[in-house]
Amino acid sequence: MYPSADTDMSGSVIFGIVVGTPETPHVVHLDRVKPIPPELLALDAPVKPTEIFRIAATCIETGCRHFDGTNCRLTTRIVAGLPLVTDRLPTCAIRATCRWWHQEGAAACLRCQQVVRDNYIASDELINAINPAIYGAE
Ligand code: SF4
Repeated sequence: MYPSADTDMSGSVIFGIVVGTPETPHVVHLDRVKPIPPELLALDAPVKPTEIFRIAATCIETGCRHFDGTNCRLTTRIVAGLPLVTDRLPTCAIRATCRWWHQEGAAACLRCQQVVRDNYIASDELINAINPAIYGAE
């Protein structure tokens, strides 16, 4: 599973809720994954589900610029570029199948709760970590 997915990706489920502030978001993990309610997708609101939920879905591997054929480079960059936000491994309903966990282990989990797929005032560190432009033309 890819843990920063969008609602339209295959197998998408909700596994966390974003709390905190836009400047300092913090993901609270659910004790189990939840299906995405159709009424949530139908909302014609200015807020995207990915601003308020963490969604996991099947990793599309070579369909994603972050994937190098073996690893998720996004995970590597998150571990290298984002600060720790907890000193305890958060309980997580998708850990058994999470690509970030399997690749980077606790180093990913200890930074994961600051990741929000759509945050319009994200930190410079997060913007730098998620920007695929660094890979150039591949
Ligand atoms: S990186 Fe860790 S905390 Fe984040 S979704 Fe994966 S298993 Fe859960």
